[in-house]
Amino acid sequence: MTGGTTGGSSDGEETTEQRDTAREKLPRDELKRPVGRTLGCYDRLVLAAGSALVPPRDLPGADRLFDIDTLDGAARLAAHLRDRTDYRAVVVGAGFVGLEAATELAARGRVSLVDRSPVVGDQLGPGPRAEIEAALDALGVERRLGTTVNEVGDGHAVLSDGTKVEADAVVWSVGIRASELTRQIADELDHLGRVPVDRHLRALPEVFAAGDTAAAAFDADHTVMQACQHATPLGKVAGYNATADLLGAPLRDFTPGPYVTCLALGGAGAVFTRGWDRKVMASGAEGAEIKKRINHAIHPPVDDARQILAAADRVHIEFPFFPRSDGQAVAAE
Ligand SMILES: Cc1cc2nc3c(=O)[nH]c(=O)nc-3n(C[C@H](O)[C@H](O)[C@H](O)COP(=O)(O)OP(=O)(O)OC[C@H]3O[C@@H](n4cnc5c(N)ncnc54)[C@H](O)[C@@H]3O)c2cc1C
Repeated sequence: MTGGTTGGSSDGEETTEQRDTAREKLPRDELKRPVGRTLGCYDRLVLAAGSALVPPRDLPGADRLFDIDTLDGAARLAAHLRDRTDYRAVVVGAGFVGLEAATELAARGRVSLVDRSPVVGDQLGPGPRAEIEAALDALGVERRLGTTVNEVGDGHAVLSDGTKVEADAVVWSVGIRASELTRQIADELDHLGRVPVDRHLRALPEVFAAGDTAAAAFDADHTVMQACQHATPLGKVAGYNATADLLGAPLRDFTPGPYVTCLALGGAGAVFTRGWDRKVMASGAEGAEIKKRINHAIHPPVDDARQILAAADRVHIEFPFFPRSDGQAVAAE
């Protein structure tokens, strides 16, 4: 890896002396150790254990739920519905993951999308909502808003308004929470269970956090999302800084690229937005083409050390096919 972006202490960066003092105040032993096999001491630790789906609390029939939080979970759902074209599916949670699941499932069955909120994509804001609603309409996805699932039975689900709906599969997509390992690092976590970090992604003098476990500042008004577009550069910067810190080299600031969202909407394409107000830049087939290109571009090299290190140096992946400014059409290259 080459070149850190910061060096001195005039801009508020910690000096070695300050870090050493902090180390004395907060020695390694203060980290609460999990019960189990101890790997031994470390000089630097990077926590990148990701996040997991928040399971339902005390939901009768919870053992019948499906999810797509992991590849195994998605494979289990796919196997359950394989060769069926007439299934009824209930998707609980109309956020990023629930919307993608519902619109994909609609290709071969009838889907009900359930959410406590009165609107779909509540966390996405109003920017892309019209496109999302149009996609759900086009695919025939029924919305059951302002409600949730209270019970999962054999072939059915009971909603909180008392309605019993047919369900061959109930897919739980209600949010994720950072790995429990974050509790070993910090007493105060954010609402997603993430560890607060400084601009070098340092959580403790000897511990850095990255990906879905890190509550890093995106800018003065926003914290990063639990999304791979942030997880990937966070990992690169945390790894760089852990190494640079050991070598006494300047640390790098985490400086995220422009915030974008590309939500896949099954047979209705995808909606691509830019900025925190999620202004729609492309939708339908054009959005789907962008999604396909993103998925292709984000895969890192896996078997060539030089390529892997070169890719690690490029904290942000340039996407030449993104619309470059408001109102400019996608120039697929
Ligand atoms: C269905 C779905 C669709 C998504 N789509 C998008 C998208 O379109 N765009 C986007 O930006 N983001 C998307 N995301 C989010 C994205 O996948 C995550 O933000 C990203 O994977 C987080 O990266 P990470 O490295 O922090 O964690 P992970 O990718 O979860 O990796 C963490 C790793 O740590 C391992 N691990 C956990 N605990 C331990 C432990 N105790 N010991 C050892 N290993 C451990 C895990 O097995 C895992 O391999 C999606 C997520 C889901 C579930």
